[in-house]
Amino acid sequence: MVRVVLENVSKTFKGGVNAVKNLNLTINDKEFMVLLGPSGCGKTTTLLMIAGVYKPTSGYIYFDDRIVNDLEPKDRNVGMVFQSYALYPHMTVYENIAFPLKLKKLPKGEIDRRVKEVASMLRIDNLLDRYPRQLSGGQQQRVALARAIAKQPDIFLMDEPLSNLDAKIRVEVRAELKRLQRELGITTIYVTHDQAEALSLADRIAVMNEGVLQQVGTPDDLYNRPANTFVAGFIGSPAANLVDADVVEAGGEYYLEMLGSRFKLPSDLAAIVKGESRVIFMVRPEDVKVVEGQGFLVYSVEWLGREALAHVRAPDGTLLRVLLPPESKLTIGAEVSVTFNYAKVHVYKPSGELIA
Ligand code: ADP
Ligand code: MG
Repeated sequence: MVRVVLENVSKTFKGGVNAVKNLNLTINDKEFMVLLGPSGCGKTTTLLMIAGVYKPTSGYIYFDDRIVNDLEPKDRNVGMVFQSYALYPHMTVYENIAFPLKLKKLPKGEIDRRVKEVASMLRIDNLLDRYPRQLSGGQQQRVALARAIAKQPDIFLMDEPLSNLDAKIRVEVRAELKRLQRELGITTIYVTHDQAEALSLADRIAVMNEGVLQQVGTPDDLYNRPANTFVAGFIGSPAANLVDADVVEAGGEYYLEMLGSRFKLPSDLAAIVKGESRVIFMVRPEDVKVVEGQGFLVYSVEWLGREALAHVRAPDGTLLRVLLPPESKLTIGAEVSVTFNYAKVHVYKPSGELIA
């Protein structure tokens, strides 16, 4: 049972790449924390510093109250699972799971008990005599998970462990992973670039971009109150609309001039944008409503299964993403207008920060 604290942690590689910049993050005991961000943003580097494979260039890493910067990886008692399963090809499933326990010099009986226990937990008990090449991708990843669990680590570190699995298996193993983590109560730090995976698994998500932490919060926090335009655009699918707007006051009312059109703001939003001259207006596709009117053109409609995604061309040429309800009869080429669910929109400074 361990709490992990990163305090002003930075990593600069030889050659000068600043992979992680002054990261401050606490992962609570038993928490499922997801590190989320685009490729190259520093997720794996962060994970490998926690594992002890890389040393921070500066800053401190704590396990509970103990600084572990100089602790060898093998002494950290972490269980790691990677994208490529990293199973030993010449060992059976049983031997793969048992291997770290042999290294720990556990008695044979205890090893046998643990291997069988995790194998049944992950429903691979019928595969113990097989070799990795005789397993499907989903089965191999279960074995990798079983090996990590059998070690009874203080912390799980997982780097995109599901990204090699096909969509159906991925959702299955994802659900299993979430259930196991709850059941075992082991602090887990899980890296992914897939925002849907992050939203489904995490107690909290830490969003990173270009080595810099952008926001930490529950899935609900990040989806409904994104702190900046990066998080707003990264979380949610189809992606949120982010539109440059001028703030205009006329006759005591506030308007946003954007999309080649003018939108009157309700009083609570007017109070927020008062004092700004330019803002970035953020609205999710499900919060744009297509109504009768002029100036906007339905450019495309894609059926997504339960609902449809439309691209609606604004008078200035911007394409807005709009989710249409299943009963919508909208067709390509129709001339329409749009309104917004103002209770759900956000406005940001041109720098990208949320205007409070
Ligand atoms: P992510 O896992 O988010 O895709 P990484 O942590 O792997 O990102 O990489 C962050 C940045 O650090 C990238 O620019 C990457 O090229 C660089 N980087 C990662 N590992 C090394 C290394 N061993 N040496 C030099 N640069 C590295
Ligand atoms: Mg990575």
